[in-house]
Amino acid sequence: MGLVVATSRPMRRFAILAAAILSAAPAFAQDLGGQDLTTKAAAVRDKALADPTAWRVVESLTTEVGPRPVGSPAMARARDWAVATLMALGFENVHVEPFTTRVWTRGEEAAEIVGPAPQKLQIIGLGNSAPTPTGGLAAAIAVFPTFQAMLDQPPGALKGKIAVVTQKMPRTQDGSSNGAIGVQRFQGPLEAARRGAVGYLVRSLSTDKTRLPHAGASTPAGIPAAALSGPDAEQLERLAARGGPVTVRLVLSSSVQPAAPAWTVVGEIKGSARPNEVVLLGGHLDSWDPGTGAIDDGAGVAIATGAAHVAIAAGRPRRTIRVVMWGSEEQTGSGAAYAVAHKAEIPGIVVAGESDLGAGRIWRVSLPARGAATPAMAAFKAAAAPLGVIFADAPPKYPGADLEETTAAGAPFVQFSQDASHYFDWHHSADDTLDKIKPDELAQDVAVWASFLYVVANSDVDFRKP
Ligand code: ZN
Ligand code: ZN
Repeated sequence: MGLVVATSRPMRRFAILAAAILSAAPAFAQDLGGQDLTTKAAAVRDKALADPTAWRVVESLTTEVGPRPVGSPAMARARDWAVATLMALGFENVHVEPFTTRVWTRGEEAAEIVGPAPQKLQIIGLGNSAPTPTGGLAAAIAVFPTFQAMLDQPPGALKGKIAVVTQKMPRTQDGSSNGAIGVQRFQGPLEAARRGAVGYLVRSLSTDKTRLPHAGASTPAGIPAAALSGPDAEQLERLAARGGPVTVRLVLSSSVQPAAPAWTVVGEIKGSARPNEVVLLGGHLDSWDPGTGAIDDGAGVAIATGAAHVAIAAGRPRRTIRVVMWGSEEQTGSGAAYAVAHKAEIPGIVVAGESDLGAGRIWRVSLPARGAATPAMAAFKAAAAPLGVIFADAPPKYPGADLEETTAAGAPFVQFSQDASHYFDWHHSADDTLDKIKPDELAQDVAVWASFLYVVANSDVDFRKP
């Protein structure tokens, strides 16, 4: 793509630092072939910008498999798709890692205002919602403009009511509003039940204005729980503000498998010099059911696969590059299963990352403090900076859901922040479809990750604790 790498003042400082360390340990700034890492990283970046693999992967997954909730027949097809895709791209040691996990599966769902103004509501059941009794559940609603306002209610205050929380999710570039108000979905049913509620409705964690509700998991609470579309939440707010009771009827059916079969799929290229040192990048293969799981997380699967493909196309790496497609992120289970299955080799994981925030461009990279100021990372920074990437001063805070257990066991991790400004417009809704992915932004993601994978896998940079 012909990007010109401008040499800024900080870059010159890195170059001086690189030269100083180079004289002591020449291997640091060279790759396996004795070539300059900075030049090679830039070449990998440019190759990635023009490489169609990631787009082909996400197009194929969302078209040929579609929605793939854990525990569904579609997830078994996704497993087979993943194996075939990794094999076709030339990955080695392609295999399936089976595990079991608790699975909640959606059934029939409907909601309506019974009175005073009968009309249908657009809802979607939350993961782990209890089913309604035969014939449905009809009850008066109690509306709260914020989650905290519901928490402020004393025990028993919501007895016999359907609690409704209508707090709106603000738009943020880093997606931090999910962390800030996501609790109203995760913990809302449990907190409502603790106060006596017989049902729970929450405004979708959505930054869009459509009438599509957004799914997602919640903590089991023993009461029916669903997400409302934004306009439907506002409709209930207006009706409730007029005074007098508002009655809503819910029909939610679902089933639970306590130990359903699930699979994580792995492929790698063994390192030529240090095969037991692993550079790991993944996304999650499972998705929620209303959309086709394009941004969540077909994009992450595609970015990891595409970036590894480009990085290894430059030659067999010195360290092993591994792609992981975790098989139960949305309903949890794959992160813990991976950490257990790979316990013995966790000390060999040089660095790990999970791409699970859509397909928007990467705007910030956080590296572990140890290793961040090395010539190898200077080579990576020089490749990534022209792509509009800034480097955080602070070390990464969150590895991604599927890496929580592995990183808690000691594996270092990176955090590549993507522009999530529009992610929650579509996330977990019927609008999570391929058309939301911009190929040029996906290519930028792949380019940043590919240059990172290349540099780490072909240098001695070490993020692990000594
Ligand atoms: Zn996800
Ligand atoms: Zn998700």
